Amino acid sequence: MGLYLHIPFCRKACHFCDFHFTVNLKGIDALLQALRQEAEQASAEWKQGSFDSVYFGGGTPGLLGPQRLGPLLEHMHRCFTLQPNAEITLETNPDDLLEFGTEGWKAMGINRLSLGVQTLNPQVLANMNRAHTADQARRALDLIEASGIPKVSVDLMFGMPGQGTQELIQNAEELAARNIHHISIYGLTVEKGTALERMVRLQQVELPEEEEVAEQYLALNQVLTKAGFEHYEVSNYARNGQRSRHNSAYWSGEDYLGLGPSAHSLKGDARWFNRSSNAAYVQAMNGQGGIREPEELNADQKINEWLLTRMRTLEGLGEAEALQRVGAKQWFEWLELKQKFPDNWFQAERPLAFSTQGWLMMDGFLRAAVL
Ligand code: SF4
Repeated sequence: MGLYLHIPFCRKACHFCDFHFTVNLKGIDALLQALRQEAEQASAEWKQGSFDSVYFGGGTPGLLGPQRLGPLLEHMHRCFTLQPNAEITLETNPDDLLEFGTEGWKAMGINRLSLGVQTLNPQVLANMNRAHTADQARRALDLIEASGIPKVSVDLMFGMPGQGTQELIQNAEELAARNIHHISIYGLTVEKGTALERMVRLQQVELPEEEEVAEQYLALNQVLTKAGFEHYEVSNYARNGQRSRHNSAYWSGEDYLGLGPSAHSLKGDARWFNRSSNAAYVQAMNGQGGIREPEELNADQKINEWLLTRMRTLEGLGEAEALQRVGAKQWFEWLELKQKFPDNWFQAERPLAFSTQGWLMMDGFLRAAVL
């Protein structure tokens, strides 16, 4: 089981981002208090099981520093059973990491850091309104490597306006040469309501062509696999078996509890999410109004969700589980469908799992496969 805490605060609003966050930092302490209250309310329901991962996500939880998040983690220990070897991840950005250092995070029990580097091109960082510079990213990585924090992950983006494939390859090679264990690669998408969407509409930025974006995805794959990383999920690479335990639990359908505004939860057949409003969240925890919205999926939607999630993973769909979930008829229909697509989209050694080339093109197959 995984425990997720959504910390919805950021120093600056990146132009591409549509996550739930605010740059108004005044409400931090009220929100942390509300998170404690939500944990207390959820405690009885979740106390029987134990969490093997805790994930501080956001937003930028690293912005709050260990003085604020340390006591919050202690509170989680009081409300829930966290396994002694639980993976405890903190998302942070380079500038915040440099501000707080690593000792405080280590002391509070963070054993996995996820650093939002995105690119090492200073101009692209500035154009996207990131709060950090490329030099800060390098210095933050120096600090993390010297800290002995056991697991380190870096986020890198591709398809960014102003960054060509050759430079992206150099960025990936530079990062891969470091002592990091995990790299997530995300293609830039233009989300509704973001500053980037407006800039694209006003022709203030020019996005790279689709072919170039595809070329970048494949080039990253070459660099990272050559450096010993396993491409274990469409956007994720791990070295030395250091896959993200937290995300792997999502992909394999384990229960998870999400605390905080916009956080999602799954428990058995029940699933729900908290609405994306800090004010409503704080009020709800103070007994004024509700925040939880149930998510109802019918039988077909559950199968589709399983299909779409599993096909993102290296393992894809296993025959035994597929037969049990969807029955022989559906399973053989999927295998037949696979024959209509190029061989190199799929791994030869697994019954139904994409190759890297297949992940690039997966929408066509998945659109045809969903119920
Ligand atoms: S720091 Fe992360 S969460 Fe915050 S605006 Fe930027 S991308 Fe979004």
